[in-house]
Amino acid sequence: MQSITILGATGSIGLSTLDVLARHADRYRVYALTAYHRIDALAEQCLRFRPEVAVVGTADGAKRLGYLLDQAGVNTSVEYGEKALEAVASASECDTVMAAIVGSAGLAPTLAAARAGKKVLLANKEALVMSGQLFMDAVNSSGATLLPIDSEHNAIFQCLPHSYQRKPSEWGVAKILLTASGGPFLNRAVESLENVTPEEAVAHPNWVMGRKISVDSATMMNKGLEVIEAHWLFGAEANQIDVIIHPQSTIHSMVSYLDGSVLAQLGNPDMRIPIAHALAYPDRIASGVSAVDLAQITQLTFQRPDFDRFPCLKLAYEALLAGGTAPAILNAANEVAVQAFLDRRISFRAIDALISSVMDTLPHTDIKGLDALLEQDSQARRAAQSYIQSTVGA
Ligand code: NAD
Ligand code: MG
Repeated sequence: MQSITILGATGSIGLSTLDVLARHADRYRVYALTAYHRIDALAEQCLRFRPEVAVVGTADGAKRLGYLLDQAGVNTSVEYGEKALEAVASASECDTVMAAIVGSAGLAPTLAAARAGKKVLLANKEALVMSGQLFMDAVNSSGATLLPIDSEHNAIFQCLPHSYQRKPSEWGVAKILLTASGGPFLNRAVESLENVTPEEAVAHPNWVMGRKISVDSATMMNKGLEVIEAHWLFGAEANQIDVIIHPQSTIHSMVSYLDGSVLAQLGNPDMRIPIAHALAYPDRIASGVSAVDLAQITQLTFQRPDFDRFPCLKLAYEALLAGGTAPAILNAANEVAVQAFLDRRISFRAIDALISSVMDTLPHTDIKGLDALLEQDSQARRAAQSYIQSTVGA
């Protein structure tokens, strides 16, 4: 019986994870569920999955959840705040942690799970992008098992030999080919992107996801973050990671080997596939998703990404090459920019302009530990906010 903590249980990945767990109650039990403020949704999950602990964002939220659970006769203990997240991610009662909080808020608990030697199922790519070597060092020194949930990285993991803690050159890998759908604006006139609305940006053609990652998919910053994620997960250099646009999202990524073989993983676009894969690894379990019907697929097409249409992708490659805290600065500026866009304070095209300006003005340093990293993250957020104030006066 595996005992699981889900960080971010009420989000898109959290819901898909619970869906898979519910199909295999004989293999998995839920130790803890966490959510920031969708208290009623979390209460329903507690009623159904009976975790030992539930963690929310605020004291008020904890009070409300405690009341709802009392009424329902559920004796889950309720906690709140960042320290409680770290505690449920590293508790001896759980062996597996699904890291599915969105953004930098997930870093501390995900790192706590890695340091505690858990089986870490990593959806929260921002945590790895920010902390890079620090995170991988924690995984290696504690003996944690790190399994990628991001569909592309899960696909690459499946296309690599089992012991993937080696350099790609040792496996004869020529390139990692990260596929990207191109998002909702792949074929829209570049000049018209200035005026797109948050509703248009979050309407992804193939995947249903949280709002932040949906905007990241529209700018292709999501793919940029994934390039950095692939660098850390698989030890590949920037010039060994190519992005290829594949609008059907049937191939989830590929590995190209020196002998000319290209291995791909295919599937319907449903996150329950990588979640089930990582939960059961190295076994296989049913995910609730049917296999792709190859006879139904009329075409699989590919094209190279255009940096003029998707400048965020270029900025991410630059941050990876710059190293140190540059990816953390990129990530922080992006989180502020995406929120400002969703709040209708800045335009879609201002997202890349803002990130570029913060990257140019804020010098990056080596990563000297978690506190210094979080300080750099805060500096980048302040720089991003002042950029917004200076451009729109908001
Ligand atoms: P979401 O917005 O649907 O859910 C986010 C979850 O995080 C919620 O449970 C929310 O309560 C929690 N949360 C938000 N802010 C928090 C805070 N400050 N403190 C504590 N908890 C907080 O997001 P999502 O789409 O499920 O994405 C989660 C992560 O998985 C992201 O890092 C995303 O990049 C990654 N991911 C998602 C998908 C997908 O299909 N949704 C695919 C690949 C990777
Ligand atoms: Mg992905």
